[in-house]
Amino acid sequence: MTTSDLAAPAAGGRILHAVTETVSPDECERSVDRIGAIAAAEDLLAALGRDVDSPHLADTPRRFADALIEMLTPREFSPTTFPNDDGYDELVLVAGIPFHSLCEHHLLPFRGVAHLGYVPGDRLIGLSKLARFVEQFTRDLQVQERLTRRIADRLLEVLDPRGVGVVLEAEHLCMSLRGVQVEGTRTVTSTLVGVVRDDERIRGEFLARCGLRGSEG
Ligand SMILES: [Zn+2]
Repeated sequence: MTTSDLAAPAAGGRILHAVTETVSPDECERSVDRIGAIAAAEDLLAALGRDVDSPHLADTPRRFADALIEMLTPREFSPTTFPNDDGYDELVLVAGIPFHSLCEHHLLPFRGVAHLGYVPGDRLIGLSKLARFVEQFTRDLQVQERLTRRIADRLLEVLDPRGVGVVLEAEHLCMSLRGVQVEGTRTVTSTLVGVVRDDERIRGEFLARCGLRGSEG
């Protein structure tokens, strides 16, 4: 069997992710074999010693597969920008955007809040669109560090701003429910670029408004 055979979806089970001009090449053309995922979920339950013929579990493989597919399917989104006619040159910050994603190591959720800021160049973006930026990347298998970077990179690409800051704070269920079982621990990751990184005043303001102290005093 070749790799392409393995990747070939079952008939009728193909869901091709919506592709918009805003989706980068690595996210395009990812296909989902829903029927295969349901069958695999049933196999997983059986392998875990569960009675898949029990009426209580009859519909569980389908629900499980559909929940995963939903959490891994980004919604279409085109980030409209508009000209910065008034020359606004201070920090624009949207703090506390709730998000959830799936860790690629355990397929367990991590959830928390995102803080996004930028110092505009020639373009501005609607504030509600900043929240959509986050969602665009959370519906994927992730590690938090890469998620942070990808959000920042897309903001840079779309807005060409003078600086960007992205901070994610999240609790990982793979840490709190299993393994070390540390409940309530939050992992904080950040990507600071341009004046948000290099200008002390702007960096300090950004971190303070995210509820974080600036580093090294
Ligand atoms: Zn994990």
